[in-house]
Amino acid sequence: MAETRYCYRHPKRETRVSCATCGRPICTECMRQTDVGIKCPDDARLPRSARTGVMKTNQVLWSLLAGLAVVVVGLPVAFLATQIGAGSLILCGLAGYGAGTLILRAGGRNGGPVAMTIAGVAVALAFLPFLGPRLLEGNISPFAILEPLVAIGFAIYNSRGS
Ligand SMILES: [Zn+2]
Ligand SMILES: [Zn+2]
Repeated sequence: MAETRYCYRHPKRETRVSCATCGRPICTECMRQTDVGIKCPDDARLPRSARTGVMKTNQVLWSLLAGLAVVVVGLPVAFLATQIGAGSLILCGLAGYGAGTLILRAGGRNGGPVAMTIAGVAVALAFLPFLGPRLLEGNISPFAILEPLVAIGFAIYNSRGS
């Protein structure tokens, strides 16, 4: 690629440098040095939202650990929710909210599909021992199904990242 290219922001300036992300040519004044190479100003300062969903291995591990903690802590909460009747949906919402927040923070606040999956599965596992047998028997009220759904919904929503 020896052909002459021109900075996309300064059409009169020749350059041989191009952005590592979008490939557009950029002049030395416009290029930004980042830890993943030279980028154009647009890609160098991506909004936080464009980076969500990208987790490092240790962040995934921490998310899994947090998911485990959610299952352990969630078991008594889920048991309580299946016992108290009225008001249980509020408890489930709060529990799911807390679970999602914990998992989001454990994963370095990146969120994304991994964190959302862990959050959803962890909360579902907490409810499983109490609802599983009743589900198998087909002896379950719509309200009892709503409890885990509310908790799982809040957990997933809150772990999505921003
Ligand atoms: Zn670029
Ligand atoms: Zn330029």
